[in-house]
Amino acid sequence: HAKENGCNHYQLFRTDMVTQREQRHHIEFQLRQALKDNALFLNFQPRIDIATGLMCSAEALVRWRNPLLGLVQPSAFLPVAEARGLIGPIGHWVLVEVCRQLQAWREEGMAIVPIAVNMSAMELRDKSLPARIAHILSKTGLDAHFLELEMTESSLVYHEDDVSIATLAALSRLGIRIAIDDFGTGTTSLKRLKCVPLDTLNIAPCFVHDMLDSQENAGFIEALIHFGQNLSLRVIAKGVETQAQLDRLAMLGCDGAQGFLLGKPLSAQDFTTLLGSGKPLGPHS
Ligand code: C2E
Ligand code: MG
Ligand code: MG
Repeated sequence: HAKENGCNHYQLFRTDMVTQREQRHHIEFQLRQALKDNALFLNFQPRIDIATGLMCSAEALVRWRNPLLGLVQPSAFLPVAEARGLIGPIGHWVLVEVCRQLQAWREEGMAIVPIAVNMSAMELRDKSLPARIAHILSKTGLDAHFLELEMTESSLVYHEDDVSIATLAALSRLGIRIAIDDFGTGTTSLKRLKCVPLDTLNIAPCFVHDMLDSQENAGFIEALIHFGQNLSLRVIAKGVETQAQLDRLAMLGCDGAQGFLLGKPLSAQDFTTLLGSGKPLGPHS
């Protein structure tokens, strides 16, 4: 039974669905239902300021609670959502939910932190995105500075990239923070990157995972940190799992860190508790 087996790509399909087309159609149908049933929800993973250990921001990560399959991870449903034109409605839901949640925390008197929302290439190609987000902000009453949009390099080289750059400029003018995610793993040229109004640079986990393995690897992550900082960007190291990595990142002057060492993705409820505690995270605590 699918539920007992946990969840992966394959269990989203019934075994009698032989063609890929049938399988995708099935997921698409279920996802449309999920949007109607409010079956999507968000987890929040903290990011810390390395110097203080305090939470400086968080990343919103979408999940799907499927009645048959249990918890479905984004890697299992977002590719289908993209292929079937559902990333628009899902992305919109995520944006609204993040802004609503942040403003709700704020109205409860909590000290909120900016929250990063992952944006797919398709969402960025929507020219109405800045107006749509401005509308969400004014409806929820949230200050634009608490919203960060993050995108991978591949989103920026996808076709019609000029539209994306114009869109990003408009978003930046609204006061929204723009971040490049998993920097160093994509195909954006530095020339193109120069056109993006960036605030934050998230270093891909692979550079963190091997940073202590050799002098070359150490030099590489140091160069990435300096690259971001020379451009006055906030530099966040992703996938930090060990104290040794964090210590070295601190020595190198990296601004922020995210990873299982500092905190796993949390339910909104658990994240509320964390936000309310105001205590340093991970090894500082
Ligand atoms: P991402 O943007 O790179 O998000 C970080 C992923 O790494 C998350 O996986 C998180 O659970 C995981 N992670 C965090 N710290 C560690 C660590 O120390 N070690 C390891 N091994 N993993 C860690 P998740 O939640 O499964 O999300 C996967 C991807 O799905 C995200 O990668 C992002 O690209 C995409 N995604 C998630 N939510 C959304 C969304 O709302 N919209 C869009 N368009 N994409 C989303
Ligand atoms: Mg991300
Ligand atoms: Mg990623």
